[in-house]
Amino acid sequence: MIRLVWSKLVLLVVVGSALAAHARADGETPPGRDPKQPVDEGYTEKIHKYTTQPVFTSPLVDYLPASTNVPTPQAVLGDVAGAPGILPYAEDVYRYMRLLEKATPRVKVYSIGKTEEGREMIAVAVSSEENLKNLERNRALLAKLADPRTIKLDDAEADKLVAEAVPIYYITGTIHSPETGAPTALMELAYRLAVDESPYIKEIRDGTITLITPVVEVDGRDRMVDVYKWHLAHPKQFYPWLVYWGKYVAHDNNRDAMGVTLKLTENVLNTYVNWKAQVLHDLHESVPYLYDNTIGDEPYNAWIDPILADEWQIIGWNNVSAMTKFGMPGVFAHGDFDTWSPGYLMFIAALHNGISRLYETFGNGGADTEERTLEPEQYARTWYRQNPPLPKVLWSQRDNNNYEETGLLTSLHFFTENKQRFLKNFYLKAKRSTMKPSEEGPAAYVLPGDEPRPGLQAEVLHALQRQAVEISRATSAFSVTLPAKKAKEPAKRKDKREEKSDPPAPTTRVFPAGSYIIRMDQPYSRIADALLDHQYWSPDDPQKTPYDDTGWTFGDLFDVQVTRVTDPKVLEVAMDRVTEIHAPGGVKGEGTLVAINNNAEPALATLRYKFKDAAIEAAEEPFESAGKKFNRGSFLLRNLSRSDLDRAAGELGVQVTALSAPPAVKTHPVRAARIAFVHTWLSTQTEGWWRMALDKLAIPYDYMSTQAIAKISDLRSKYDVVLFPPVGYSAGVNAVVNGIPTAWGNPLPWKNTPETPNLVGKNDSTDDLRPGLGWQGVAHLQEFVERGGVLLTATDTSSLALSLGFADGISTQNASKMKIVGSVVGTRLVDEASPIAYGYDEKVAAYCDNGPIFSLSNIAGQRGRRRLGPQMHARPTGRGTVDDPDFAVGRPEAAAPEQPKSEIWESPPVSAEQRRNGFRVIPTSLRPRVIFRYADTKDLLVSGLVEGGDEIAEHPAVVDAPSGKGHLVLFSINPVYRGETWGTYAMVLNTILNFDNLNAGRKDAAP
Ligand SMILES: [Zn+2]
Repeated sequence: MIRLVWSKLVLLVVVGSALAAHARADGETPPGRDPKQPVDEGYTEKIHKYTTQPVFTSPLVDYLPASTNVPTPQAVLGDVAGAPGILPYAEDVYRYMRLLEKATPRVKVYSIGKTEEGREMIAVAVSSEENLKNLERNRALLAKLADPRTIKLDDAEADKLVAEAVPIYYITGTIHSPETGAPTALMELAYRLAVDESPYIKEIRDGTITLITPVVEVDGRDRMVDVYKWHLAHPKQFYPWLVYWGKYVAHDNNRDAMGVTLKLTENVLNTYVNWKAQVLHDLHESVPYLYDNTIGDEPYNAWIDPILADEWQIIGWNNVSAMTKFGMPGVFAHGDFDTWSPGYLMFIAALHNGISRLYETFGNGGADTEERTLEPEQYARTWYRQNPPLPKVLWSQRDNNNYEETGLLTSLHFFTENKQRFLKNFYLKAKRSTMKPSEEGPAAYVLPGDEPRPGLQAEVLHALQRQAVEISRATSAFSVTLPAKKAKEPAKRKDKREEKSDPPAPTTRVFPAGSYIIRMDQPYSRIADALLDHQYWSPDDPQKTPYDDTGWTFGDLFDVQVTRVTDPKVLEVAMDRVTEIHAPGGVKGEGTLVAINNNAEPALATLRYKFKDAAIEAAEEPFESAGKKFNRGSFLLRNLSRSDLDRAAGELGVQVTALSAPPAVKTHPVRAARIAFVHTWLSTQTEGWWRMALDKLAIPYDYMSTQAIAKISDLRSKYDVVLFPPVGYSAGVNAVVNGIPTAWGNPLPWKNTPETPNLVGKNDSTDDLRPGLGWQGVAHLQEFVERGGVLLTATDTSSLALSLGFADGISTQNASKMKIVGSVVGTRLVDEASPIAYGYDEKVAAYCDNGPIFSLSNIAGQRGRRRLGPQMHARPTGRGTVDDPDFAVGRPEAAAPEQPKSEIWESPPVSAEQRRNGFRVIPTSLRPRVIFRYADTKDLLVSGLVEGGDEIAEHPAVVDAPSGKGHLVLFSINPVYRGETWGTYAMVLNTILNFDNLNAGRKDAAP
């Protein structure tokens, strides 16, 4: 049936193409084959066979031109691109690209780096022989456009370069491993671009260099192919879900373009920047049939050049228009994707003066041809989707490949036709980036030379360096004028002094020599500005469903000082460009007793584990010695080899000071705790960021699943700390404890077999993904804490631990209107004597994504009442003014005892009534201890979106709940996230290092 339809269509296409070879009335080059070039008949027939409906293809891809010397994808795949049942490994894709390189001078393959697991990443350049011969010369031309300082911002000179240069359009495939279609589409695209002699393709080849990274998440691709092969070998069974993609994270690999912590981001970013590409176009598959989502919806990122916003529309709408004319259903732009967060891979281009683009096409998560039924909202006709997808279709990987290739070819053609406009825009965006100080500002960001956390400061600067941002360092002290701060609305509770103070005035700030200056008169100022500035997402914004995080300010999340300077004088300060940035470290002074100040820098934990046998003590009080002030938690080390310590401290950027005498303060040992790191088989994404952080800090841990916990009956003798990071995806008690039902279906193994050689890597394995923690596992964790272990949980695992009754006197409430969507919020230090708080100041910014609302109670088994701000209703209805007492008529006034007061983060004091036969009153030594709380409502928002924040304001953010001999340490914030929250890492590390002394500094007031 399908073939019959196709044979008719082939005829039509051949006739149509022959006609199309003549010039069209509209002057445009017609898409479609060159009738003089022979077609690869066998390949073309298969294309038709695997395309499920004639409307799911276009004149650009419904044939394959023949070549006498260049192999088609069939040479490697054994069938055509998009054939059912065929999903190539990355190395097969690379093998094909290298066959192309061998066969034609129009293709060159470059190795662009390795993944975390050591697999290669490549970029394939396809263009005319001449363009590829002149690559270096062309790169030099593009480099001048990319950095207008080199031509003194001379527009006339830029025009000459624009006329001469060949632009670069960079396409990246399959960053999301279950989105499987791009590699075969890109193999065939490379062939077409190299071989097809039709005028339409020839124009692209002569006018543009197409750069292709066919597989971005290489580790995940190989796992996905394994899973698919397992599925083919067991066709009647359910198959395992892709529980690991890359070594650390899954879907979030497309949220790393701010921190650039993953190799794949770094490799693509370096390729993009080194090639001076104009476009970065990333391919995804989750929406029928082709959603060009870059145009998207509001709000747009506030740091992009408006020229880019226009380019999104221009290219996107041309794309939709061209495919609409082909009669392909379901091609659209707009939709509900907002373009606020710069975390997406494509956004590398957006904030490096290029054009970011992203397709969502329709994939089947493998290469099976399947019947697919859409939801009504997916096939509804909307104003931006006049030819919507069909409600129910048979859909193949070939269909998906047809859409991907057609979209890319029409885009490449339009881009080539308008290449001078886009090259000029590329220059203009770079020029406007360079002119930022004199246009919208700021002039620079300054990170002071006397930063108390130089190690964390270096981490922020390294992140900027990975973004190709230039960094300078002042050679002497300087001062700048800072604008007057707008006064905040004073809180009702505060006294009136604040209101009466003088109107704010500009201030002068002096920065010492050695301060880092990030000048905004550089081509990549936008990315630095976007990362260091603050974000504000209005609760009144018409966009009610932010697509991702709404705030990310790096200075706050790294707990270091960053000053936005608008005063242009800062650019005249004497400074040097720096490439090597390293926090100073080493041993100063003589003596066998040395101290390291604690400023909540993660490097201290690294040092602790590096000298794992050394005796290290923590000071429980601040002290002064050798003319230096040391904070609580400062390390005291004795009798270590000075040269070893000096070397390690130098590498880690830790300053060590010799003391003449031990300080007269109480100390306790800081031990290299034995860590069990627990993951579920439901999802390994959010915990992956925690693993990455520990690996970066060289802190060892045993990685195990909830299933393993269920089998280890004596956890406490093996481990001191169990880390149970967030699971994600709102996994509740049922999912974590019971897992996926095993009452039906088949086991879902995650292990290496001949069919699945790549699944495990260096991560974890199981015979069956389905079982969860189980009640045995729950019992083991509870016993672990009872016997002196520390269980650390965050966000959803905190809720889980409380639901399971692991701690008394603390409960969670459901928010009714609170909306904190991946925002930076303020927290306040409540208990500075707790080891968990060592090194922190009173104000700490943290990442929060609708964290659980904790409330405390001193009564066992009682839920703490969530309280909203100060008491508004001071007196009941009655006689008199608001300050007067009411009275009962006909009797003398009875004096009421004063109501006990407590703060929102505290437990309400035990009342006299509760104390009567008070067997449920928790003894003071066993009550939860609040270490950090959320800031007041007015100070809660640091960056992003906070709506209904009063529901969580002032509630506990980090709580230490004693239980048996051990502790449950609960986080409502997520302290370890996407490599962006270095400032809160030490809350976790402090908990680990002080696991057996968490009660230090505890104020146990009499009950
Ligand atoms: Zn995706």
